[in-house]
Amino acid sequence: MARALIIDLDDTLYDEHSYVLSGFRAVAAEVAGRHPGVDARALFDVMQAELDAHGRGKVFDRALAQAGITPDPETVAGLVAAYRAHEPAIALWPGVVEALADLRRDHRLAILTDGLPLMQRRKVAALGVEALVDEVLYSWEHESPKPDPACYAEALRRLGTRAEETVVIGDNPGHDMAAARAIGARSIRVLTGRFGAQPDAGFPADAVVASFPEALPVLRGGRFGAAA
Ligand SMILES: [Mg+2]
Repeated sequence: MARALIIDLDDTLYDEHSYVLSGFRAVAAEVAGRHPGVDARALFDVMQAELDAHGRGKVFDRALAQAGITPDPETVAGLVAAYRAHEPAIALWPGVVEALADLRRDHRLAILTDGLPLMQRRKVAALGVEALVDEVLYSWEHESPKPDPACYAEALRRLGTRAEETVVIGDNPGHDMAAARAIGARSIRVLTGRFGAQPDAGFPADAVVASFPEALPVLRGGRFGAAA
């Protein structure tokens, strides 16, 4: 049986899309606060429509232009900063709190998350997830963005376990499963989030489940293999 788990955050324990929308709401409110003629709700709708149509690249430029505000680089940079620093209104997916509590009875647990530490730390705080695990690691603070194995090695050190008795759980095969392979740990892929319908990018997991709570029966020996 596995003794420790290294768990991804975004799209594994909560819906990252909800974070993006939370950030848009905060930015829209900030713009509306500075420009009395701008309606925050309408601005949010423009951002969401732009995201759906073209992705994140020009969301703030288009929203400003729609509101009749010149999207000069300084103004856009200010909105990006507001987005990154906002206190997100996000929540763990159903069953995640209970699953972590159950797993913690017989595993050491680490969350290892990628991305700007300012943003990732605010997500962790908003989700209240720090109290549910033994360690939280921010890969960018270790200058080892996923799938660099260096931060995973640090997680093993902090957890006091070897790779062979540790399982990596995450949604992104090219990051989470690739890192698991690099350190010699097994992995469980969750199909939640935007990678759910994507191929495994050459990094197949040892088990695949629909969502995080469904990793429990796999880990407890049902479908993961005798050594798990
Ligand atoms: Mg993820």
